[in-house]
Amino acid sequence: MKILLVEDSATLRHALCSYIEQAQHKAVVAKTGEEALQLIENDSFDLIIMDVEMPGLNGFETTRLMREWFGDHWVPIIFVTGKSDDNSVCEGIEAGGDDYLTKPISQVILNAKIRAMERIVTMRNQMNALNAELEALSQRDSLTQLYNRRTFDELAAKQWSSVNRYNRPTSVLMMDVDHFKKFNDRYGHPAGDDCLQRVAQAIKSRVHRPDDIVARYGGEEFIVLLPDTDFDGAITVGNAVREAVQDLKIPHESSSTGQFVTTSVGVACSDSINGADLETLVATADKALYQAKQQGRNRVYARKEQPHKTVLIVDDDQNHLQQMSESLRNHCNIVTLETGHECVDIAHSLRPDLILLDIDMPGMDGVQVCEQLKADTKTQRIPVILISANDREKQLAKANTAGADEYMHRPIDEELLLSKVSGFLQ
Ligand code: GH3
Ligand code: MG
Ligand code: MG
Ligand code: MG
Repeated sequence: MKILLVEDSATLRHALCSYIEQAQHKAVVAKTGEEALQLIENDSFDLIIMDVEMPGLNGFETTRLMREWFGDHWVPIIFVTGKSDDNSVCEGIEAGGDDYLTKPISQVILNAKIRAMERIVTMRNQMNALNAELEALSQRDSLTQLYNRRTFDELAAKQWSSVNRYNRPTSVLMMDVDHFKKFNDRYGHPAGDDCLQRVAQAIKSRVHRPDDIVARYGGEEFIVLLPDTDFDGAITVGNAVREAVQDLKIPHESSSTGQFVTTSVGVACSDSINGADLETLVATADKALYQAKQQGRNRVYARKEQPHKTVLIVDDDQNHLQQMSESLRNHCNIVTLETGHECVDIAHSLRPDLILLDIDMPGMDGVQVCEQLKADTKTQRIPVILISANDREKQLAKANTAGADEYMHRPIDEELLLSKVSGFLQ
């Protein structure tokens, strides 16, 4: 054992050190409590022998601080003291000591106490190793060795908080074996179990990144979390895992979908535009899986989460409103208005994430509306894109003076509009 000896008296230190070394242990010495505290910060010890009466921090105080530092990690501490009255012994145990030695120290007693502590330390280490093993086992599904659902929920929640911090997209795949009940009926339950093991391995073989999480979510249902993966990326992985299962070529004569075992996959993605939370994401993947089944199985169905950002579009021309709403419909919630006056009012209460504002309107025009919005502390942070079909240079200059965040000229290119809008909604 590696033993830390804390003792201010040089004579006693010397004697105890030689006892410890004769018993085949390694001794590290500290002359004060303060020095001992520094040593435990940078080194680990199996046992600590601590003098009680010392200048500066005494043995009890040092022990209290050590226990705080160790937290759940237990290291036995034996006190060495001249006081053997009941109160001193009680105070020592209270302070976190495990045993008591009174001066003068007998080498035989010291050795016996070290051996007793050694036995407890060994038992304690075995128990910790067993606990770690049990903990690892309880995280896994015993059939496939994948994480189980509980572990998925825990790990995914952890991933989620770190991914969200950086505002990156995250995707979920939900997979289910097609006609698996019929597989069991036709080939028997043991063959069904074997099939699930192979499906699990096939899925794992196509999910590569260290932060990805693959788990068995239920009977013949699997789930994959793909942090930092956008919608298209998730569809690619979804197809890869679906193909990997199909490529196993496990015969399934009772399947109406094909001659081999196949899977259906539901995909969902949360990004900065839809801002879906983890629970919604899993529920959406589940709905998408249902769609994949409905549409014929052995396929990937990707479902976009409903957006939660709102864009206010203001234009006196109904056709413009309709065109722009059409272009943005899949990316955000849309509210349309036909006059500048309404816009100033509604922007206050609705607080949209972006305003697309026509300059050329009767009554209050877009430039005036923009000036008002930017002059008001409640609305000045809402980005405004001003739009016009009139003289480009003049309108651009007006937009700048009014404090607009962007200017677009008609006719508006749909792709350009989309990219500008998603830029503001990030
Ligand atoms: P679908 O294509 O609609 O998914 O049809 P299905 O038969 O796969 O769906 P259903 O959910 O009705 O049946 C799932 C079956 O999976 C039920 C059960 O017999 C089987 N199953 C679930 N867990 C296990 C398991 O651990 N081992 C085996 N062998 N079979 C399982
Ligand atoms: Mg002393
Ligand atoms: Mg199934
Ligand atoms: Mg199922």
